[in-house]
Amino acid sequence: MPFEIIKDKAQNLKREDFDKEFEKHQKISRAGAEKKFGGHGLLLDTGELKAADEEELKKVTRLHTATHLLQAALRKVLGEGVKQAGSDITAERTRFDFSFDRKLTDEEIKKVEDLVNFAVGKKYQVEMKEMALEDALKLGALHFFKEKYPSKVKVYSVGDFRADPPEIFSRELCGGPHVKNTSEIGHFKILKQEAVGAGLRRIRATVTP
Ligand SMILES: [Zn+2]
Repeated sequence: MPFEIIKDKAQNLKREDFDKEFEKHQKISRAGAEKKFGGHGLLLDTGELKAADEEELKKVTRLHTATHLLQAALRKVLGEGVKQAGSDITAERTRFDFSFDRKLTDEEIKKVEDLVNFAVGKKYQVEMKEMALEDALKLGALHFFKEKYPSKVKVYSVGDFRADPPEIFSRELCGGPHVKNTSEIGHFKILKQEAVGAGLRRIRATVTP
């Protein structure tokens, strides 16, 4: 079961039931990943990010920061109705699901790509700060839904913090890992878009050095 569905269900679950569901989901994902990687296990498996070795870890880390930039770019181009519904990142690509009710035009796809590559070209810093959940929400950090988070959270911001006022391109509640500077990401390219349900779209994208 995709974790997003668990999260939807979770709103109607008690905390302990949610933890059980979550654990079950983690076991299933791990089993699936082990099968895929020939039973050798994974260096990293957060559920969202999967890497078999150091080289893959570097790639998924670049793709993870690129995914934050992608969400920010989608919201800038399509509006703030765009919300993350899930993501899945391997060394080959990032897969990002978000709420939106129609196909993106070629022009919109190009705009989103250009914006992500603009953020890469700006050599933005990626900064992590731990703070109280309510402070993170006040800062407008993007998140899934409040109930899931502990009272202290990590917030990853991407931007130019030396500018006055600071120029923030993206800000999200997230566990990492991320690159330190967007220049590490490389060139960002959208490979494919598709519908995955009512009001839900999926984008696959990759980065090249
Ligand atoms: Zn993240």
